[in-house]
Amino acid sequence: MPSIYLQTFGCQMNVADSNGLAHQAWSMGCTFTDAPESADILILNTCAIREKAEMRVYSRLGQLKALKRPESKLLVAGCLAEKDRAVMRRKAPQVDALLGPRDYQQFKALLAQWGVPTDLPPPQTPLHMPSSEDAPGEDAPLEYAHLRSLVSITRGCEKFCTYCIVPYTRGPLESIPPDDIEAQIRREIRCGAKEITLLGQNVNSYNFGGVDFAGLLRRLGRIDALERLTFLTSHPHDLTRDVVDALAEVPAIQPRLHLPVQSGSNDVLKAMARLYTIEEYLDKVAYFRERLPGWALTTDIICGFPTETEADFQATLSLVERGTFEYAFVFAFSPRSGTPAATMTPQVPQEERLRRLQAVSAAQNEQTRRFHERFIGETVSALVSGPSKKDPTRMAGKTGHNVTVVWPRTDAAAARSPVANLVIEQAQTWGLVGRVA
Ligand code: SF4
Repeated sequence: MPSIYLQTFGCQMNVADSNGLAHQAWSMGCTFTDAPESADILILNTCAIREKAEMRVYSRLGQLKALKRPESKLLVAGCLAEKDRAVMRRKAPQVDALLGPRDYQQFKALLAQWGVPTDLPPPQTPLHMPSSEDAPGEDAPLEYAHLRSLVSITRGCEKFCTYCIVPYTRGPLESIPPDDIEAQIRREIRCGAKEITLLGQNVNSYNFGGVDFAGLLRRLGRIDALERLTFLTSHPHDLTRDVVDALAEVPAIQPRLHLPVQSGSNDVLKAMARLYTIEEYLDKVAYFRERLPGWALTTDIICGFPTETEADFQATLSLVERGTFEYAFVFAFSPRSGTPAATMTPQVPQEERLRRLQAVSAAQNEQTRRFHERFIGETVSALVSGPSKKDPTRMAGKTGHNVTVVWPRTDAAAARSPVANLVIEQAQTWGLVGRVA
């Protein structure tokens, strides 16, 4: 049977897409390998969100050119395949086929074209895909990976934020039928999943046959065996009070909300075409805090967006310093060619973008550490990720607030349990240190 080497770059949407491609290939009898030199089919599922991500893909394509056997096939899938459709063949002639994120229904036909038989009975062995993601250090070891599962609920996005390439690469929004989502979740639970993450570029815009995101959460909350449910990502414009009410009603939903603010300045939000003002954002946060005290609010922030003045930056910094967020992913603006922001003027010089990034990150780190300190002396439950990458004498996991926690690796039986109850003894900016309760 043909063997496949599959490497994934980028976001969790890509990880979920790779799982889907792997499932299709497995259903045709393909096996998987982590050795590109021995694979019959090599697949890179790519990301185009930042220039650095693109460079990593092209550099990997260069390495694979030397590694792959002449008769092997090389497929580039994902956002870069869509964005560079016209130039990829010239830049990387070793590529045999391209499939953008909207083309995955053609994947089986492509495999058939490459000689994979289509008439075999379903495989008798479970799907076993070696981890070959862009940042393997972030992955859970295989024996823990099945505890977390990603389930896409939408594809594409039509918000057209001025800095973002996604609407051009992934196309317009499409919601997946609730029956299909529920069936996939039930399948994942049968395979051992303890935490399901619903994925979409903007899950709040979910709508299928009148079922909106709040309705979907309530429906999924009725699945008995579903222990932990969470979702990514929310667009503040589309987050309704009804969604917040649903979060409060469904016990399986984990106590965290990721709500990307991007900037504290209305002028910058307008330039980004984010469709909300900071007052509207904070109004939604106030309702969220009132209904769900104790939950973690996390966010994304872009520093040095074109046109961002010192006063705009100070508005963002002050938002962070006021303790609005428990955690933030802070980025320096990186222009994507083909997006309006790439040619907006004036652009903020790179060193100034970095200065602002460092100031916002330092302010947020202070808030995050204070948030973590609240857990000292408490007993928390953590979903195990496996032995700690930095210190294998410790186990690592994530709490319901998505905070990393490590604890001494004691006896083997306890180490194999998917969930650990821990007394927290220390708080750091990166997370918590505990001991088994
Ligand atoms: S909501 Fe904006 S940032 Fe998010 S995927 Fe859509 S266009 Fe991109």
